[in-house]
Amino acid sequence: MDDRQDLYREITDSGLVCLKSRLLDGSGVVDHFFTVRDGSVASDNNMGLHIGDDPGIVIANRKRVLEDHGMSLERLVVARQVHGDRVTRVDHCDRGRGATDHGQAIEDTDSLVTGSRGLALMTFYADCVPVFLADPRGRATGLVHAGWKGVALRNSARTVEAFHGHWGVDPRELLAVIGPAIGACCFRIRKDVADAMETAGLGAFIVHRETEMWADLAGAVCRTLTDAGLQREHIRVWPDCTCCDPKNRHSHRRDGEQSGRMAGVIMLK
Ligand SMILES: [Zn+2]
Repeated sequence: MDDRQDLYREITDSGLVCLKSRLLDGSGVVDHFFTVRDGSVASDNNMGLHIGDDPGIVIANRKRVLEDHGMSLERLVVARQVHGDRVTRVDHCDRGRGATDHGQAIEDTDSLVTGSRGLALMTFYADCVPVFLADPRGRATGLVHAGWKGVALRNSARTVEAFHGHWGVDPRELLAVIGPAIGACCFRIRKDVADAMETAGLGAFIVHRETEMWADLAGAVCRTLTDAGLQREHIRVWPDCTCCDPKNRHSHRRDGEQSGRMAGVIMLK
């Protein structure tokens, strides 16, 4: 198990850079990618329809990266994220929801799971923690979005429970990849955030420097997953800080409300 060697850069047919996981590729059961900020693409390759960007540009950006991976807007399902812990199971009846109209996205959810083959799930990130999940036996896949609120709610554990509840997936077999998020180098937190993490039993991921506190959200999610029964050797944590890399990553902490959004996408083959 080597976190650093799991991540690789892919250049798609149309020349886009995406990030991918060797662990997920090796499972053979899912297709997946994570988009990056790219100054050569309109709106820096923003994937979010909910931040006031030109919808035509965002839809074109989504269409391009999906088609580069043999996917389509018609078979995409998008989440309307609220920093909660609700897990939503979707299937082919939901296909296309939120793909071109954010108002039609799956409401009030930060976790999408599916057992439907050929259905691409998409969630959005600018510092929050992306978690890709896959059952290596190919019964189900899922995506989680966890900011500090989701981390404190242990929403990735709720998602692991959904894999078990819906498909009987043993957490000890589940594969997880924790993608690019804001690191403890940049994520300075207030006392209320620290208190919420302490209450969740994740106080070990608060970093104290002089009089200030910082949080390691990716580390906290990794602990949440092992607490939920995953084996550490089945988890990869990409060594990356979104806030430290303005050229290649969108970051809400760095760029504010209008920051672009990167997308995580996963599809059961
Ligand atoms: Zn940083």
